[in-house]
Amino acid sequence: MNKRTIKDIDVYDKAVLVRVDFNVPVIDGKITDDNRIVEAMATINYLLEKGAKVILMSHLGRPDGKVDKKYSLKVVSERLQELLPNNKVIMAKDVIGKDAKSKAEKLKMGQVLLIENLRFDAREEENDKEFCKELASLGEVYINDAFGTAHRKHASTYGVAKLLPNAIGFLIEKELNMICGTIEDPKRPFVGILGGAKVKDKIGIIESLLDTVDTLIIGGGMAYTFLHVLGYKIGNSLFDSTNVDVAKKLMKKAEEKGVQFLLPVDFVETPEFDDVVNYRYTKDANISDGYEGVDIGKKTIKLFSKAIKRAKTVIWNGPVGVFEKKEFAVGTYAIAKKLTKVKGTTIIGGGDSASAVINMGLANKMTHISTGGGASLKLFEGKVLPGVDVIDNI
Ligand code: AMP
Repeated sequence: MNKRTIKDIDVYDKAVLVRVDFNVPVIDGKITDDNRIVEAMATINYLLEKGAKVILMSHLGRPDGKVDKKYSLKVVSERLQELLPNNKVIMAKDVIGKDAKSKAEKLKMGQVLLIENLRFDAREEENDKEFCKELASLGEVYINDAFGTAHRKHASTYGVAKLLPNAIGFLIEKELNMICGTIEDPKRPFVGILGGAKVKDKIGIIESLLDTVDTLIIGGGMAYTFLHVLGYKIGNSLFDSTNVDVAKKLMKKAEEKGVQFLLPVDFVETPEFDDVVNYRYTKDANISDGYEGVDIGKKTIKLFSKAIKRAKTVIWNGPVGVFEKKEFAVGTYAIAKKLTKVKGTTIIGGGDSASAVINMGLANKMTHISTGGGASLKLFEGKVLPGVDVIDNI
């Protein structure tokens, strides 16, 4: 990698503006999963050790450009203080207002300032020039360590980087090394597993994975559009009518490239999406009229497991069923379990598949669990992340 990293930049006694991803789940005012905060600690601790004044910025949820207390980062600052018992953590009451500015000016070496939720100001997502300037005025050096938003061209992830000496932090460096390092030179067999709801969202990644993988496994709501093309009955299952031709083209490409394209051969079907009482297993890949497919069946679990067992590299993005309901999470959990047995590299794209693995307590059995769903998908697709691209080369 040729990007300047945090170790290549002088931070001693400097006000270092760090974009982190503190977009953590908060329920009833409590953080239910602090993984993203913990993942940012390597960069924060390093900066503090090197004598920097650390100014952190992040978004939380979707406050739609307006101040909304529900999305305040105050709760994050409290957790941060627990993780940094020897350093003072200060919370600003605004983003680029009077309070943030005066607290940034007064900040001392070894102290941490967290400014308020960036998305309290609509100009953040617009990458507004004035807003970028104001943000940049808070610090002297800029570090991007927010992998989860590195695929966005926002003020804090993109615009501000152009105005200050810049570098990527340890988390982004780790994510790039793990994901790009693996897909650029995979040990074979290389298996890709894709699930989730819509074909539309995954066309790019299917297309590019077909150039590199040996086997592509398709599960989740996406599978039915492909099965429809092959003449199966799909009942009321998710169907992407606008992408039928794309699905055909992708299967043709798999054939031409000699990629094994694995679709489910049986399902769990239910009359209504959220009916967890009247569900049943199908005999084959056909879904009954009046039913919809919500999980892969037992034969499919066996089929997918066989391919995974042989693999030396596996990347996975998207659940293979409606895993939010425990009755329909069997397939997704079976895949996660199987991945722990792989004698090779296992990379879990962020988002739902990462949650499934973490909820099962299998996180430490995977090679890497990405902290960014959208960003890891872009990397799987072979795309450049704007938040990384904007950082100067060494
Ligand atoms: P995505 O964001 O595209 O990865 O989609 C994740 C969502 O796909 C999850 O909320 C799952 O519940 C959903 N999903 C997975 N399988 C199915 C299915 N068979 N039918 C409907 N939704 C599904």
